[in-house]
Amino acid sequence: MVHVLAIAQEPHPVGSPQNAHVRDYIMNQLNEMGLSPEVQASTVPDYFGVSEERDHVTIHNIIVRLPGDNSTKALALVGHYDSVPTGPGANDDAAAVAAMLETIRALKCGTPLKNDVIFLFTDGEEAGLLGASAFVREHPWRNSVKLVLNFEARGSGGPSTLFETSPGNSWLISGFAKAAPHPYGNSLTNAVYGYMPNDTDFSVFREAGYAGLNFAYPHNVNAYHTMLDSADNVDARSIQHHGEYMLSLARHFGNEPLNDLKKSDSVYFSICSKMMARYPALAGLIFALTALCAFAGIIIHYAGKKVLIPAKIFAGFGASLAVLAPAFVIVGIAIGIAETAAHGAVAAAAPPELRGSAFGLLAGIQSVGNLLASAVAGLLWTVVSPAVAFGYAALLSGAALLALARR
Ligand SMILES: [Zn+2]
Repeated sequence: MVHVLAIAQEPHPVGSPQNAHVRDYIMNQLNEMGLSPEVQASTVPDYFGVSEERDHVTIHNIIVRLPGDNSTKALALVGHYDSVPTGPGANDDAAAVAAMLETIRALKCGTPLKNDVIFLFTDGEEAGLLGASAFVREHPWRNSVKLVLNFEARGSGGPSTLFETSPGNSWLISGFAKAAPHPYGNSLTNAVYGYMPNDTDFSVFREAGYAGLNFAYPHNVNAYHTMLDSADNVDARSIQHHGEYMLSLARHFGNEPLNDLKKSDSVYFSICSKMMARYPALAGLIFALTALCAFAGIIIHYAGKKVLIPAKIFAGFGASLAVLAPAFVIVGIAIGIAETAAHGAVAAAAPPELRGSAFGLLAGIQSVGNLLASAVAGLLWTVVSPAVAFGYAALLSGAALLALARR
């Protein structure tokens, strides 16, 4: 918190005198630790109107390298030290800078790692990712970096969340799952974020082909980019979580060969911040298709029998969601197996005027069940074995086929 208090006294956007003070503070901290940080200055067109009188702006990245004793490639930890002009940036991104400084201190005390670890404190993130772009474009160390871990905030608290990865993430996810004491995040966020216009420094690295992971904490978003983003509104637990990731991941990836990092994609989700379930995206597709085939089979079976009345289907679907959503964890496993078997029987037993609604109700149960069935399969994949996960998927298909055959 000492660093956050020092850095986030007032807004310190790129090019401002306050920004220079923050830079001096970080340089002093690094020098006091006996390191030799360097400043990368780069002058770029001022697309975002940061500077009032000139059409160019100069950014200053702070870069320091902790040499490994048998380095394959370097790992880079990245956070930005500039803020927006409209807020002091205590969470965004002084919290990450503070965690980076303490991670350097901890790494210096521990046994040396194999790989070099580069700490990159970027400038001008808020003005158009200028610092990260300058590093990727011009810095002589850009080619030795293979893996990038970026840290951000989009609020003033909450768990530091893995919300974005580079493509082909299975090796990274399994490293993260093994190393981080409290892993948090899921692949759905990664997929959704991919369709949003938001950017962080990580976008620059991802587009330049670097492998990496991107973390941010998301709670109390009203503090984001406002005067509320002050040191009083920082949750120390979020900084701690950032720092825990930085140290554990630096120690893990700092000792792994960083040559060929891009593999297949993983589906992943954390469970109570204690563990990370993960399985190949291809297996996820098979699990989903298994559930979908059962669903499609039943639709085909009932098509043309005048029981598929849209309004009634939606009514039933809504009712089932309302009932199931709160309880879905508890009933999930049972539903996953029972839904398909029960489907045909229940729909057939309903009086004709209620069949549409009964079908919608079952469709709702089935949708939640399908999600759960995939999640359960993924959990089995991680905790037990891939064979058991496929066995479970086969059991679901078997139940579905049985239900259809009995019609
Ligand atoms: Zn930021």
